[in-house]
Amino acid sequence: MGRVVISEENTFFAFDPSISPAATVDPGDTVVFHTKDCFSNQLLSEEQLVTTIDFSRVNPATGPVYVRGAEPGDSLLVDILSIETADRGFIVTAPGAGALGDFVKQAKTRACYVREGNVEFRGLTLKANKMIGVIGVATSERTPTGTPGRHGGNLDTKLITVGSRVILPVEFTGALLGIGDLHATMGDGEICVAACEVPGKVEAKVGVAKGLRVPWPVVETADAFYILVSHEDLSQAVKEASMVAVQVLEKGLGLEWHDAYMLASLAVDLQISQVVDPRKTVRARIPKSLVSWEKLTKAFSR
Ligand code: CA
Ligand code: CA
Repeated sequence: MGRVVISEENTFFAFDPSISPAATVDPGDTVVFHTKDCFSNQLLSEEQLVTTIDFSRVNPATGPVYVRGAEPGDSLLVDILSIETADRGFIVTAPGAGALGDFVKQAKTRACYVREGNVEFRGLTLKANKMIGVIGVATSERTPTGTPGRHGGNLDTKLITVGSRVILPVEFTGALLGIGDLHATMGDGEICVAACEVPGKVEAKVGVAKGLRVPWPVVETADAFYILVSHEDLSQAVKEASMVAVQVLEKGLGLEWHDAYMLASLAVDLQISQVVDPRKTVRARIPKSLVSWEKLTKAFSR
C-alpha cells in the first residue's frame, strides 16, 4: 500500500468538485496531510487580533485527494492513524463570536502551549485531545470550508481523533477529500468560537465502502457510531439526527418504526459537537452493543 504526503501549500477554501486534486491514491493507501491552523498561520502573537487578519484565508483544508474507486453512492472511509501538532496554538474571540458573542467587548487572542500530552492555558493544565476540525469531500452545494454539512466540512467534533473512522458520503467520482483545522484540545460546543488552534499533520488511511449511502457523516469509535447532523437551527439538527438514528435501528435491526423510536429513547445519546459555526452540529450516539457494522451497512445500503 502506498503512502502520499501533501504539503500545507495545497490548501483550498470550499468543498467543490472543480478543485484539482493535490494527489491521487488507491483505497488502502495512507495520506499525510500537513495542515495550517484555521487562521492560515496568520497569528504570531497575543497582540495580534483575529479582527485584523485576512478572512479570505480562514479555515484552509489541505488537499483535495482523489481516491480511485470512490463513486457517487459509495462512502469514503477515513481512518485517523496519527495527529501531531505544533507546540504552540492560539485561541481567540471577538464581539459577536461564539455562544456569548453579545457579551464580548473586544477581540482577544491567547496562546496555548502543547507539552507532553497537555495543553497549558493561562497557567492551567488541560489534557490534550488532538482532533480534526475540518474533514470533508466535494459537494454540489460548493460549501465553504468553514461550514459543516452532509459532506462533512467544519464538523468541529472532538471525537474525530486518533483511532476514529470518519465515514463520508461520496457525491463525486474520486470523493476529493480535504482535512484541516487541527485543535490541540476542545470542549463540546466550542463555546467561544475557537479551540486551541494549531498547525500540524494528520496521517490517515483511506478506503471505500461500495454502495453504502450514509445520509450524513458518521464517526465510528471503539464502542459506538455517531451520526453527525448540521443545521442553522440547533433544534432542526436534533430532529434530523434523531430521525436518522431511528432509521438505523428500524432498518438495521428490523424493528417497527415506533419500536425503533422507543429504543432510541432508551439507548441513543444526543450530544452537541459545536454551536458556533454557520451550521450547528449535533451527534446521535448509537452503541455498537446494539448496532454492528453489518447492521449499520444494512440500514444505509440499497
Ligand atoms: Ca473549526
Ligand atoms: Ca478551529
